[in-house]
Amino acid sequence: MNMAKYVNANKTSADLVAVCTEAIRQRAAGQVPPRVNGVTFEHYAALGWCQQHVREAVEATAFGREGDWEGAKCCATRTAQFLRTLGYAPQTWATAKLGDLIYWSPCGSRCGTCKQDAGHTGILHHLDGATWYVWQNTSSGGKGMCIIPLQSWQRNPVGIFRAFPLAAAGEQEAPTDGERRINWHGQYLDPADVVLVDGAHFLKLRAVADAQGDVVKIDAATGKVFVGPASWWPKDVTP
Ligand SMILES: [Zn+2]
Repeated sequence: MNMAKYVNANKTSADLVAVCTEAIRQRAAGQVPPRVNGVTFEHYAALGWCQQHVREAVEATAFGREGDWEGAKCCATRTAQFLRTLGYAPQTWATAKLGDLIYWSPCGSRCGTCKQDAGHTGILHHLDGATWYVWQNTSSGGKGMCIIPLQSWQRNPVGIFRAFPLAAAGEQEAPTDGERRINWHGQYLDPADVVLVDGAHFLKLRAVADAQGDVVKIDAATGKVFVGPASWWPKDVTP
């Protein structure tokens, strides 16, 4: 069973990417400082704020306010180290998806708090052919907050982590390795228990009940089908 940790399992990687897109749109439109979901990207034009910008994008997506993400640390390097211990699913280039958080080290600047090289971070924003574009705050070219292609030196990150599920709880995740994974109230069902008919997914009721520790009962008198804890039904309703 996949028990990867998420900042907020009811938001998705697509929601995070949308926050990044909107922040860039506002900057391009002169609506500055960009403000998305209650979070202000006040350092949009300054340099060296990569860690703060990724944190702000995550918090705008997950909470609609700033300051609640336990995963965020003093710098990109320390955050990557911490996310690994927290249980966010680490990704590789083979499994990376849009919206994944990406971390590099070194960057050449020392973090004033943990004294390590501060590293660099961004969010995988979109693909153009085989080229990844990364939303980030970078001093490269004096850009500040921007979306630019992955640089040649960035092909070996120290970590790629998924902060949000690819689909919200209860919805279908994108197919992974040819397997359709269905998240049902936080539990992943066996693909064999999910049937695709005419473009609609049907879940096998007993599998769903098993996944959440419930039982299926049928009222013989009315033919109605119930799913829930065994304690919910009178004894005259038989399984
Ligand atoms: Zn640090």
